[in-house]
Amino acid sequence: MVKNIVLLLLLLTTLKITAQQTNCKDFLDIAAIEQKAYASRINTNQTSQASDNFSIYYSRFVWKVNPAIRFIEGIATIYFTSLTTNNNIVLDLSNQLIVDSILFRHQSINFQQQSNNALAILFNTTINTLQKDSVTIYYKGVPSTSGFNSFVQTTHNNIPVIWTLSEPYGSQDWFPCRNGLDNKIDSIDIFIIHPSMYKATANGVLQYEQTNAGQTTTFFKHRYPIASYLIAFSVTNFSVINENIQLGNISMPFKSYVYPESVANFQTATETTKNAMQLFHETFGDYPFIQEQYGHTQFGWGGGMEHQTNSFITAPDKNLIAHELAHQWFGDKITCGSWQDIWLNEGFATFCANYYFENFDTTTFKSILTAHLNDIVSIADGSVFAKDTSSIGTIFNGRLSYNKAAYVLRMLRFTIGDSAFFTAIKQYLNDPNLQYGFAKTADFIHHVEAVTKQDMSWFFNQWIYGEGYPSFQVTWSENNDNWAKIKINQTTSHSSVPFFKILLPLTFKNATQQKTILVQCNSNGAETWADIGFAADTVLIDVGKQLISKNNTTIKTTPIDATIDDVLIYPNPVSNYLNIGFKTPVARKIQIQLYNALGQLLFTKEFVINSISESLKIPFANYSKGLYIIQLKTDKDWKMVKKIIK
Ligand SMILES: [Zn+2]
Repeated sequence: MVKNIVLLLLLLTTLKITAQQTNCKDFLDIAAIEQKAYASRINTNQTSQASDNFSIYYSRFVWKVNPAIRFIEGIATIYFTSLTTNNNIVLDLSNQLIVDSILFRHQSINFQQQSNNALAILFNTTINTLQKDSVTIYYKGVPSTSGFNSFVQTTHNNIPVIWTLSEPYGSQDWFPCRNGLDNKIDSIDIFIIHPSMYKATANGVLQYEQTNAGQTTTFFKHRYPIASYLIAFSVTNFSVINENIQLGNISMPFKSYVYPESVANFQTATETTKNAMQLFHETFGDYPFIQEQYGHTQFGWGGGMEHQTNSFITAPDKNLIAHELAHQWFGDKITCGSWQDIWLNEGFATFCANYYFENFDTTTFKSILTAHLNDIVSIADGSVFAKDTSSIGTIFNGRLSYNKAAYVLRMLRFTIGDSAFFTAIKQYLNDPNLQYGFAKTADFIHHVEAVTKQDMSWFFNQWIYGEGYPSFQVTWSENNDNWAKIKINQTTSHSSVPFFKILLPLTFKNATQQKTILVQCNSNGAETWADIGFAADTVLIDVGKQLISKNNTTIKTTPIDATIDDVLIYPNPVSNYLNIGFKTPVARKIQIQLYNALGQLLFTKEFVINSISESLKIPFANYSKGLYIIQLKTDKDWKMVKKIIK
């Protein structure tokens, strides 16, 4: 879901900010709004109370509404599998709604509506383990307002409208369900009875609209597993825009239910949906509900919600369209298995919207990267994984669950490469244990590791579970052979990650040339050499904005004329052998001479060092105790003299 105020901000021209720059701000605003909403839910302990002795596999809903009146009359038939031997089950249903009766095997049975929004259904017989059965619940009432206003009755252009938005716990405000992240209903049928002057929209495919005595029954069928919070409907004087999107050899319906006053606006945005749909379909695998359709429903909430097969959006903003569409793969096909894992929904959807711009509008894409990066590092702490779900701010945090999570995916892509990255995501989406079900962070890591054949825990520990970001201090010099010696120090903004293992892009440049090298940073202060090939005057860190970092600095030190650097002579004092280690960027002829305290030459050797690192052992066992002088010389006027004690 996205709360989006791009359009509003565009009207405020005096703000002199671009639409792209506001994307990030929108996300922050989402966070504020969503946090408030969640606070009201979680503080009142209105999470799922459903018993775990059954799972729902099919539901048929009949909802009778009039958009002019805040009221719902419902018949919910719940087909379930009993998971134990039992004589009762508990569903989630707001106690603001009145249950009139419950039918079980054609008989009215007892039930209790409890104060914690639980509906206990008391069977008049025992149901065995794995037995399939059903109950029909007749209920009605004025739905309570919770979450993002789960059931809204209002107007647009003076015309009444009702829409629903149940994420995360609002389903129970208007229908009996399992309200948690543990059970998807395999298929649903939705019948909406409403005054004939209006049209109804919901999940799945329209079967019919039948009118009788001023009332229309609109029937939608959906045959894919669905989480309760993704079930939705809306009723008003919709205009319907019928389009098709070509996906391989399937021409799939794309239907938009929009306010009549917005038809032209939505029509011009069709191209965006087609482009995004085809891109995601090709990149991540088939659109998950390809046997049915995709659609948009316009609503008055200031953002978007990824209702399955039918995203509700306030306006056809490109970012919003791409974000909600991406949720059909990330959020709907695979749903986060706990609210701690919300980044599997929101981080991926944000990444995909960015990926849309990367492919269709690179200027906007670059602006988004800048805006997101600034947002992410604006605070020194915070993890993508919502560690503490009792703290509302850590669940739906725009900076972390949306922007940082999306940027971590960008970094993962950079780290393991496009091929491994997209393969891992496709395999994750097609995992038989996850697809059309729920996933947790460990499930995604498993697929990344399966593709890379590496332990990737270091990456996820520092970026998903760890907090903060690194700052790099790069010290460099370049010798006459145009080899650069590079030392990379790192500080981090949060103690949970003392060091970020990272692949750091450094761009060496002068007025006419530039070269980017990748330095694998595995320890703080490590040094490396790189063949630049020209005399650089500047080094830029992460020009392509591949990484999350802040306050990076570079220092160029005096150019080194020597051809050998980092000569290591040890141990000193010496006993049996004196070791000499060299580091040189290019092959060098070197002469080594060992003198005693009287200036007598004891040992001499001349040889060529071929590789960057090489070492030599000088036997010392036969020398007596005392002071020695070792001298190293190269063919390039480099000389080093050092005292050695035995
Ligand atoms: Zn979203």
